[in-house]
This record gives sequence, structure tokens and C-alpha cells, in this order.
Amino acid sequence: MLARFWGTRGSIAAPGPGTTRFGGNTSCVELTTPSGGILVLDCGTGARPLGNHLLASAAGPISATILLTHTHWDHIQGFPFFAPLFQPDNHFKVYGPEGAHVSLRDVLAGQMEHHYFPVELDQLAARISYDDMREGAFQIDGMTVRAQQMNHPSPTLGYRIEAGGRSICYLCDHEPYFEGVWREGAQAGRLESVLEAGDRRHAEYMQDADVVIHEAQYTPEEYPSKRHWGHSTYPYVVELAAAVGVRRLFLTHHDPSHNDEFIADIENKARELAKNLGSPLEVCCAYEGCEVTV
Ligand SMILES: [Zn+2]
Ligand SMILES: [Zn+2]
Repeated sequence: MLARFWGTRGSIAAPGPGTTRFGGNTSCVELTTPSGGILVLDCGTGARPLGNHLLASAAGPISATILLTHTHWDHIQGFPFFAPLFQPDNHFKVYGPEGAHVSLRDVLAGQMEHHYFPVELDQLAARISYDDMREGAFQIDGMTVRAQQMNHPSPTLGYRIEAGGRSICYLCDHEPYFEGVWREGAQAGRLESVLEAGDRRHAEYMQDADVVIHEAQYTPEEYPSKRHWGHSTYPYVVELAAAVGVRRLFLTHHDPSHNDEFIADIENKARELAKNLGSPLEVCCAYEGCEVTV
């Protein structure tokens, strides 16, 4: 599998001279499957350049699976700008978490109502199916996809994708279930020291993954004023990933107020933390254009 980041920003796009290294587009990752298929993880504004790339490189009709973690703006705003949806020969299967009282299709149609956008969902020319998902395992393109609930203000799923003995997790957006994640006096980084069942389950979901892409929007200093907004800090993510034997960790969903210098500093601190834990975990802050072979 090959993962390529097209959008690494959380909340809202943040273009400009301060974000040229890590990128300003919101969440979107392209995964090329072992059979050459295309899986799109989230459709933030990064889906616009991805769509243009697919059109430019396709020899014929495009088919792809789109997995949405949830329907907050920064994960769907690129959907109406994903140009392959406007061509009749293309085929897409869109999956996202089941919402309360409203279908995934209706939520996506909502952001394309005429108050917000000039083209309605029904006017998209491609053949598109929409399916509401819950936790569980299912097969896509010869791969096993395991969906698991994240801790976020809106129904949100993480995805663990496995093929050919390799695994990649895409975990956006998620907040620790309990702020005091580790048992007092216990050695951080050891799974049995995780206090709360939700955080332990979240860590076990990443167990032994080759690659984990995890949001880490806030610093520990910022977190107290953003509690219950549904996001993680890099120590939480690094400590859990190290505890369960993750090999490579890509931190993403960078806060729009964090410029390149600030994110590079987070990357250094996250690497230092992994080292101090005695973990061989490799940590990077994801940037637009970053390619990862799984
Ligand atoms: Zn988000
Ligand atoms: Zn969100």
C-alpha cells in the first residue's frame, strides 16, 4: 500500500507563507491498494488537488472508495470540489459513520444546498453510492477495513486497513477519553497502566500497526482551554503508540494557528518523547505530498 497526504490541516484550511512546508489543506489521504485501487480517506480541501491529479493521470474512467471519518467541515469541504465526481463514467463508493436521525447522503447533500453551493448533490454526474457505517470489519478491494468509534463530539470512525500482512490506521478526530490517561506512579508507555477502558481500547486498535496516522491538534499547554473539542495532544498519541508497538507514527490535523516552525518543534518534541520512552517508534509530522509505503 502507498499512502499520500493531500491535506494535513485540521479545522479550516490555512494557506499562506507560514504553512508552505506542512501544507494548508484540510484532511485528505490517498491510499493506493495492493491491487492498484484507490481509497480516499476524508475529503477536506486536499481532495481538490487529489481529484485534479486523478483526472490528469487516469487512462480511463476512475473508480474509488471514499472513507469519511465524520462529516465536520474539515473532512468534507473538498467533496464538492473533487472534480472526478462531475464526470459520468466515474464510479465512487462513499462510506461514513451513521449519524443520529440523518443519513450520510443527506448530510453531504446538506453542504451542497443552494444556500451554500451552486451545484446540488443529485447533479453530480458520476455513479455514486452512499453507505452509513458502524463499527466492525468489512472487505474493500481485497483489504480488510476495521472501523472503530473515536471519541469526538460528532459520530466518528477510525479505520484500520490491513492487506498482505501490513496494516495502516487512520485516526482523525479523537480526544482522550480521560485526561489522566496513566495510572499515578506507573510507567507511562505501558498499556496496563492506562486507566480508562476507552483509551485502552483505542490503544489496542493500533496494536502492532506498521503505520498510524493520528491527529494531534493541540499541545499539552493548549489542551486545557480546548477540552471536549474532540482532539488529542502529541504526548497522548506518542505514549499510546509506543505502548502497543506501532512502527511509524504520522501526526496530522495540524491546528490552523500552528505555522511550520511551530509544527517542526512539535515533531522534535514528539521524537524526543519516543526516545525517552525507550521506544523504536518513528515519529513524523505529516506534510502535503508526504508519501508512505506500508
Ligand atoms: Zn477535523
Ligand atoms: Zn471533527
